[in-house]
Amino acid sequence: MSYQALYRVWRPQTFGDVVGQGAITQTLKNAVSSQQTSHAYLFTGPRGTGKTSVAKILAKALNCLNLVDGEPDNTCVICQAINNGSQPDVIEIDAASNNGVDEIRDIRDKAKYAPTEARVKVYIIDEVHMLSTGAFNALLKTLEEPPAHVVFILATTEPNKIPATIISRTQRFDFRRITSGDIEEHLRYILDDKGITYDDKALAVVARAADGGMRDALSILDQVLSFGNDHVTEESARAVTGSATTSDMGKYLQACFSGDAAAAMTTVDSILGAGRDSARLLEDLISYARDLLVYQSAPKLIDAADMALLDEHFADLAKEIPAQWLFVAIDMMNTTGQQLRATNQPDLYLQVLTVRLSQLQNAPTAASQQSAAATPTANAAAPADTGAVSRLEDEVKRLTGLVRDMQQAPVSAAPTKATPRKTVRHSVKVNTGAIYPVLQTASRADLNALKDVWPDVLDRLAGMRKGMMQISEPVAASDAGVIVSFDNDFYIERVNSDTELLKELTAGLKAMTGKDMRVVLVEQKQWPTIRQNFIKEVGFKHGDKPATGDKQAQAPEPEQKQPETAPEVDKLTDLFGKDNVTVKDD
Ligand SMILES: [Zn+2]
Repeated sequence: MSYQALYRVWRPQTFGDVVGQGAITQTLKNAVSSQQTSHAYLFTGPRGTGKTSVAKILAKALNCLNLVDGEPDNTCVICQAINNGSQPDVIEIDAASNNGVDEIRDIRDKAKYAPTEARVKVYIIDEVHMLSTGAFNALLKTLEEPPAHVVFILATTEPNKIPATIISRTQRFDFRRITSGDIEEHLRYILDDKGITYDDKALAVVARAADGGMRDALSILDQVLSFGNDHVTEESARAVTGSATTSDMGKYLQACFSGDAAAAMTTVDSILGAGRDSARLLEDLISYARDLLVYQSAPKLIDAADMALLDEHFADLAKEIPAQWLFVAIDMMNTTGQQLRATNQPDLYLQVLTVRLSQLQNAPTAASQQSAAATPTANAAAPADTGAVSRLEDEVKRLTGLVRDMQQAPVSAAPTKATPRKTVRHSVKVNTGAIYPVLQTASRADLNALKDVWPDVLDRLAGMRKGMMQISEPVAASDAGVIVSFDNDFYIERVNSDTELLKELTAGLKAMTGKDMRVVLVEQKQWPTIRQNFIKEVGFKHGDKPATGDKQAQAPEPEQKQPETAPEVDKLTDLFGKDNVTVKDD
């Protein structure tokens, strides 16, 4: 039997199982018990927070033959059929692949008919924001006069893309990011159940990295477990998530606060050099600074789990750094965090931030704000330390040079230069040049055939590589290759940088299928868009059938994201604009 990812095994089956969405599940349970359900629901919220799981539970609750207190029993024929996807009256639609008006019209026609087996016909439309305008209009018509026996559950990560006319006809539930505490508790429950021991700190590291998404947390845990030990250690969790240790972060903030830009820069370089990711590091730093603030005003508010993550210098640091400095620093880090998402030079932004943080003590604007709060410390004497000042000047010169280089780089060269660093988070580059040739001739039959041999291909891999690949899912296949999706960009970077693993996969595919197949990785959340773009850009020429493999179907040159560079240079110029990064010597 092939390995089943944790998030599949542990998918919640009742409202009570759902972690971290108590208000929503209680409301739905009450509505079901009192038979006051709506005809249309809109579930919004970040990925991995339980939207589709709750949609399925609601579909069961609406139809269960032995409803107990608003909860489905998961044992009656209807529940079981819904659980294994064979209940014809519960229809799941991925709007990303069924974005046509025709499909929605089809719903409109079929919704008229009473359910065949269940009490209520339930349409779950995932990624509903991907519907075309025409499809939305068709859906609206159905929602305006909903048949009595039909319930629509629309789920989306991007409610802002849904027409107001649709939203106003639905009962909306906003799913929240799940708290670290809730995630940790759930991980603990799973590991206890599996009889695996763990460091508490390891769970805290995983929970923080998951950023409120349970699915991400379980994917990360899967990966940590693939290290093969019977014990989950903090080191393996940090290696998988790429998060820095708290003592690194303490060191960094301490250096910034004392105006020692060079030391701060060295710390950043060594953290990034160890393969950590800029965006992740920044998030960790913000959490750490926030914890310092909280600790200063109310030490008890830092929950035990988070406290376990903090280093021994934490308490000292909390005494040393004034709150005012932390407020300004967090503000600046937040701004930089936003900029990181749009850049492919994240390290540069981090270096600029470091210089600015190191100057914070001496900058006139910040200083005047904080003068009252700042206790006279050794750092106040920093301007007199000419050594520090000249080091800082050197750093600034270096950074200014970097920016100048970027500005002078010919624009045409930019797209090739624009290969994002391996560590850029939230934005794995979509390699259409590799994806499209596979999609040209892809077919469902090829995918099914591939899925049959895939577990055997993975079986040939050793330990960690196998563990990593087991979290993936083949989503398209043709003679030319296979497209494999990961629900976490972290793994894509890992696999792509592991040429040995890619070779082993190709060799395994050749052995199992006799074909020379290329393995192309995509991020699960980007897959619907990739598919849609392919249909638009390539499939469009061929009418209805996007993937016919006909000669004309040469993949067009994928669009370069050219404009990305210019605004970036602007942004950097902004950075170096008004509140210039220079040393004020007064
Ligand atoms: Zn049931």
